[in-house]
Amino acid sequence: MNRPFTSDLHRLSIRRVGLFIATMAVPCVVLLALGVQTVVQQEELAVKHAADDRRLRLNEFEKALVTALDRVRDQPHDSSVAIVGTLSDNGVVWPWDTVARPSAASSARFEAALSDAETAEFSNLGGALAERAAQSAVSAAANAVEKCRARLVLARIFTKAGRGADAEQVYLTLLGEPVSTVDSLGTPFALYAAEWLASAESHRHAASIGAVVASAIKREWSLPPVAWYLARSVDRADGAGDASLARTLAQRIADVEQALALQRDFVTIAGVWRASDAAWAVFGSPRWLVGIDHPGGEPRRLLSVRLDPVVDAIHRTSADLAAVTLAPAGAGDEWLGDAFPGVKARIAIIRPASGPRWMQRGFYAVALAIVLGVTSFGGFLLWRDVQRDIRLAALRSQFVSSVSHELRTPLTAIRLFADALRSDQIGASSRHEYVDTIVNESERLTRLLNNVLDFSQIEQGGKAYRFEPRSLGDVVRVAARVMAYPLEQHGFTLHLEIDDSLPPAPVDGDALQQAILNLLTNAMKYSGTGRDIDLRLAPGAAHGDAIISVVDRGTGIPLHEHVRIFEKFYRVGTPENQRIPGAGLGLTLVDHIVRAHGGSIRVDSTPGLGSTFSIHLPGTAT
Ligand code: ADP
Repeated sequence: MNRPFTSDLHRLSIRRVGLFIATMAVPCVVLLALGVQTVVQQEELAVKHAADDRRLRLNEFEKALVTALDRVRDQPHDSSVAIVGTLSDNGVVWPWDTVARPSAASSARFEAALSDAETAEFSNLGGALAERAAQSAVSAAANAVEKCRARLVLARIFTKAGRGADAEQVYLTLLGEPVSTVDSLGTPFALYAAEWLASAESHRHAASIGAVVASAIKREWSLPPVAWYLARSVDRADGAGDASLARTLAQRIADVEQALALQRDFVTIAGVWRASDAAWAVFGSPRWLVGIDHPGGEPRRLLSVRLDPVVDAIHRTSADLAAVTLAPAGAGDEWLGDAFPGVKARIAIIRPASGPRWMQRGFYAVALAIVLGVTSFGGFLLWRDVQRDIRLAALRSQFVSSVSHELRTPLTAIRLFADALRSDQIGASSRHEYVDTIVNESERLTRLLNNVLDFSQIEQGGKAYRFEPRSLGDVVRVAARVMAYPLEQHGFTLHLEIDDSLPPAPVDGDALQQAILNLLTNAMKYSGTGRDIDLRLAPGAAHGDAIISVVDRGTGIPLHEHVRIFEKFYRVGTPENQRIPGAGLGLTLVDHIVRAHGGSIRVDSTPGLGSTFSIHLPGTAT
């Protein structure tokens, strides 16, 4: 009978769930998706802006660098120029490679004497022999270079022979030679002498040695690498060398080494000028920019410019240019530009934007969280209300069907017995019994209707109680008397125990009686096969308290239902319970009546053993 309504309810709840999802979940998801999309878009935009910004700054930097390098092209003696070489088919040629060497054509007599001296020196044939040969080479020398070569051998022979004073004399002569007199490698002979004299501890010729080194390094790039190492060792042995000379030498030697590396690895950058002579390559560490000094001109000369001082100068003139690190392709981030093929640049931009971007993201997250939170909370409230409505609707439907069911039974009985009374054939005793049944059933009807009416009054907040001093014993006794006939009819035995020592109490007698009747009716309905019911009135634990209890030996109630049975319309859902008519209002009313008296109702029950319902009326009520 309940089924169609239940399936209606089911459909209703499905519809409401659908509605809930449509009104809450869908906007939430859309909102979330929009939020995420906005954040992602902003991120992409920020990345694009950063890339554009980087490109812009790189372009500015490239332009400034090209201008600075053009200026250096016009001033090849600029301090930022490390070294200038010449481009040949075989690669790069540095100045020391092309310096005028002594001519190989020396006289046969000189070469023979020099070779004799060296042979005697190295084969230990005797110092005197070697010295003689060297002396004759000196006299055979046709020019300054040959003389220097022979003297160098002679001085070495003297040194080996332990004739330091003679060696010193020869070296002093050599020291007086101009630095333009160089050997086959391009090293001034005077530098060899300077090295020997500087290491000879006496420091007697420091001034002349210093002068030789100073004039040698003036030859700059005409000096070959070995001469720079010689000059450095002279400076170190001299001991009194000044710091600025040491720095100059260190810088020159570093440049020379990088220049040699460039010569060796020239092929790695040679392709740069394929497209245009105006291009620049990056080489080495510290970085050099390598380019052609006058694009299109001949001979093609290679200009190596130190990057650091050029960049420093650029930043000095335009401070707002970004700091840029250049690297050969592969290491950096972005191509620098057409003027620097194969060069990548990494730009260091300090981003004030990173703070706000972080904050912006945080703001979105918080805003989204708040919106989602509020929406979800609203959804939860709506959901709760909907659930409550659904539950109430279900309870009401159950109530209507239960009440109709409960009304039908006494009404049918009344009609049956009333029809029977009309007939003349029934005896006086039966007539009496029929009248009792009609009265009893109509009382049952009255109780049921009273319950419904009281409940509706309670629901509307209009139920009023009239408290008057009454003997509780009388109230309990009247209730027992009202139930005597139906109890007897169904074979029940009511054990009445009343403590008459209790004083009269201000109670609403009718309401209290209704509560006791409801408990007794329940005891009958849920007694199962048990046929004994106790109704007791006893004093409570505190002075003046009273306890009215109804005890049955029936079906009992599971512990987890003890609280819920007092809810309106609630009925325990076991199949046997469902077969017993009831509207789920009896205990709700008992609870309300007892509370109105300032008391409480308590249930002690074990399934299968029976239940005890106790109404506690407090002393203040008595
Ligand atoms: P009704 O009896 O009309 O169903 P009540 O509010 O009086 O409604 O009772 C609520 C539920 O409590 C009942 O459906 C029943 O399951 C349970 N109940 C009440 N009294 C007893 C009892 N004496 N023994 C077992 N179950 C009971």
